[in-house]
Amino acid sequence: MVLRTGEEYVNAIRHRNKVEIYVMGKEVKDVTEHPFLKPSVLAFKATYDAAHEEDSESLARAWSSFINEEVNRFTHIHRSPEDLAAKVKLLRKISHKTGACFQRCVGWDALNAIYVTSRLMAERGKKEYYERFVEYLKYVQKNDVALAGAMTDVKGIRTLRPHEQPHAYLRVTQVTKDGIYVSGAKANITGIGAAEEIVVMPTRAMSEKDMDFAVAFSIPLDTEGIKVIIGRQVNDGRRLEEGEIDGLPYRTNHEGLVIFDNVFVPMERVFMLGDWQMSGILVEIFSSYHRQGYGGCKSGLGDVIIGAAYNLAKQIGVEKAPHIQNKLNEMVLLNENMYGSGIAASLDAVKLCEDGCWWVNPMFANVTKQLVTRFPYEITKFSTDIAGGIIGTAPSEWDLKNPKLKPYIEKYLQGMMDYSTEDRLRMVRLLENVGFSVAFLIESVHGAGSPEAQRIAINRVYDYEYAEKIAKYLSQIEKRIDFKENAEPWRKTDTEKIASSG
Ligand SMILES: Cc1cc2nc3c(=O)[nH]c(=O)nc-3n(C[C@H](O)[C@H](O)[C@H](O)COP(=O)(O)OP(=O)(O)OC[C@H]3O[C@@H](n4cnc5c(N)ncnc54)[C@H](O)[C@@H]3O)c2cc1C
Repeated sequence: MVLRTGEEYVNAIRHRNKVEIYVMGKEVKDVTEHPFLKPSVLAFKATYDAAHEEDSESLARAWSSFINEEVNRFTHIHRSPEDLAAKVKLLRKISHKTGACFQRCVGWDALNAIYVTSRLMAERGKKEYYERFVEYLKYVQKNDVALAGAMTDVKGIRTLRPHEQPHAYLRVTQVTKDGIYVSGAKANITGIGAAEEIVVMPTRAMSEKDMDFAVAFSIPLDTEGIKVIIGRQVNDGRRLEEGEIDGLPYRTNHEGLVIFDNVFVPMERVFMLGDWQMSGILVEIFSSYHRQGYGGCKSGLGDVIIGAAYNLAKQIGVEKAPHIQNKLNEMVLLNENMYGSGIAASLDAVKLCEDGCWWVNPMFANVTKQLVTRFPYEITKFSTDIAGGIIGTAPSEWDLKNPKLKPYIEKYLQGMMDYSTEDRLRMVRLLENVGFSVAFLIESVHGAGSPEAQRIAINRVYDYEYAEKIAKYLSQIEKRIDFKENAEPWRKTDTEKIASSG
């Protein structure tokens, strides 16, 4: 069952007995049939279908040296810069099939982050996490498991540390010889209701006093003591209307608040326990992987928006106007900047261990995500301009379907005769729901860390002192300089320093 089909995945998540999942105050038993969550299941399913579709299977499959079989790339440990680039390309491609976030990359990035972190710890003498993790990885790959990644704690007052407000961070409450008990909550967890397992990581660097919060593990979603409260999204009521236009593309992501109420985690699933010194390293590794990926999925959604704006320009006969062409061109430039940066983060990757721990380039990964915090808003603004005010005022599909109103709507909202009024409404709704979505706007700002987090990371890497030395030399304030071998004035991250420390 290494390469599951989409149908096999959907059947696997149909029945849950122990976890409690709530949507708008009511418990949901079958997420695959619930109108609020079904669009998310369909988006998640696309990651499985991609491995069986002719146009995407070569990108969506990878060879695993852990189980000596072909696996779905969403469970793969990156073995080369090309693998990392394939990730970005795959994410762009699947966005075209869903028009939404397909929710499987957080768990994938968590796998790679824990692999590298536990490997670095093993090389420095603490082997048990790595050994456990590799066994877990084999299980995930063999069963093509759907993972969610949970890093973000609820965090309460942001300026207080975990030990100063224990309820605000997931913590270990008891350790036995068989496992650990954890309590707390993780916020904003993408695709949680559609996942089979949660990979949990600490959310920040920790101090010695925060030892109980420095914990990483995996756990099946369907576990006693886990409760999920699914969050609302913009225009989400349209999913409940059983329509076929207003909620287009009828695929979407969802996020949830995940509560761990004294949950038992068997020791073989614990990948960090009290190792507060490595908590910040795990966060640095994970966040860079995740920031690189946004260059793929957000540019993929950008393509959908550019395509919709171009079509709407044609529908109202303005596609040849110079200012419309300039705006479309600007959208492409913004989009390809996000993508190009993600590809650069991949191909200029960093090798952290001898037999192939490939980490993304941390500078380019952070630059990618920083661009993503801005450019989607610009792209959506241009598309709103091109679409016209109808994007905020269009009649509903129920008006179009009302025989008394239909002739008026068809007559008065008709554009170029190549397209029907229904075509226009379909494209307007697609553009509205993708362009103003949580996935394209809010996730672009806060997913993988809010904007300041990337600026801090960029500042840590960029060597201002060296850049100043260059300027001093060229202005002849200083008469000599020791040029570095590398062209980039960059410093090593903490992760690179640890990896190169032998
Ligand atoms: C759609 C979406 C999907 C997501 N999916 C996942 C997921 O699958 N898994 C996961 O683990 N997380 C996920 N996240 C969470 C995401 O990583 C966090 O939202 C992000 O790290 C920001 O954290 P926050 O929301 O708590 O905001 P905060 O960090 O509280 O940020 C709010 C503001 O406060 C500022 N701030 C925060 N702390 C300080 C401080 N100490 N001093 C000064 N200013 C401060 C920030 O810069 C920001 O301006 C998702 C988020 C979104 C929106």
